[in-house]
Amino acid sequence: MEKPVEQVTRSDSELSKETCEAKLGKRVKGTLVLRVDATIPEIAKIQVAASVIQEGGTVAFPTETVYGLGADALNAKAVKKLFEAKRRPADNPIIVHVAGKEYVYQLARDVPKVAERLIALFWPGPLTLVLKRSKQVPDITVVGLDTIAIRMPRNKVALALLNKSGTPIAAPSANLAGKPSPTTAQHVIEDLAGRIDVVLDAGPTEIGVESTVINMTSDPPEILRPGGTSCEKLMEVLGRVKVHPLVRAEKRISLAQAVSPGMKHKHYAPEAEMIVVEGTLDKVIKKVQQLAETHATEGKKIGILATDESIFNYQADVVRSLGSRQNSSMLAKNLFELLRQFDKEKVDVIIAEGISLVGLGLAVMNRLRKASGFNIIRV
Ligand code: AMP
Ligand code: MG
Repeated sequence: MEKPVEQVTRSDSELSKETCEAKLGKRVKGTLVLRVDATIPEIAKIQVAASVIQEGGTVAFPTETVYGLGADALNAKAVKKLFEAKRRPADNPIIVHVAGKEYVYQLARDVPKVAERLIALFWPGPLTLVLKRSKQVPDITVVGLDTIAIRMPRNKVALALLNKSGTPIAAPSANLAGKPSPTTAQHVIEDLAGRIDVVLDAGPTEIGVESTVINMTSDPPEILRPGGTSCEKLMEVLGRVKVHPLVRAEKRISLAQAVSPGMKHKHYAPEAEMIVVEGTLDKVIKKVQQLAETHATEGKKIGILATDESIFNYQADVVRSLGSRQNSSMLAKNLFELLRQFDKEKVDVIIAEGISLVGLGLAVMNRLRKASGFNIIRV
């Protein structure tokens, strides 16, 4: 059991910064890790993290989607540290997180009415809006684009950090570029300990895939990345909405088609080679088992990413279920953790079943197809 968190008292404020931090958390390779209560975040810990943001440092924190790696979005030097810590390609812009709707007008200009409607309905929550950018935002945050991606998260720890910091926080996912996104603080530590200042650990994230990104500068608005807010919900509100071809991620697209810079980059990839098998379930099961056997005869260690409905059909070195096909939210929640588990088990090949594109299934399939490098077999 963890010791109960001590509230900061008057005498604490007289202690040196180091002593105060040592009372609150532990260090891993120099990175300060603070356990935070997910429902009532301890003010003392949030204050330590907020000070780091204000001083231009980097803080990993939970959001309802995945863990983000934050820095003051208005401080170019701080944002540069983010890019370096993650080894993020310099042409991939970062989502700016805000504590409230009012920040949108500081960061963006010409905000269309329809964007305000989405904000009213979906914020705080897993929906990122791409808007025209204001001059206040440093070039590096948006990699020189004329647009900015903004969202208000609903996670209590994220909101507490945003409020205490008093500034918008630029935050990509808190993983090394190209790796599966982090859904626990342990994932963040695996990738980034020693490379960032603080990790706020409030346990596993609620949704498990990133936010939906929608471009509000085009008419109709265009979904650039599927995520925690389903396309169906957005359709209901918007009526008309374009869906970028890469959202389905059925095949690699040409660079010219990549309207969102992130679309160009390798993503979510485990160390192992990955194959996605799609089609009707009975055919998928047959093909997955057949591929597992073929690769096993080559001496490879095989991992199968199955579902509750199919898992009992398989024999391989490591067989895991994402959850029930009836519950796309559960599939999304487990996805990145399982991809990381296969790496820990050192499998050579991961064979994953395709799932339905309904609800969060679209976001899951986007991640699986990209993680496989579009190594997709249709049966
Ligand atoms: P992440 O690195 O997981 O936070 O992903 C952020 C996503 O938002 C990436 O796919 C970015 O390319 C995309 N994004 C951020 N800013 C913009 C922008 N101004 N226009 C289009 N896409 C953006
Ligand atoms: Mg990311």
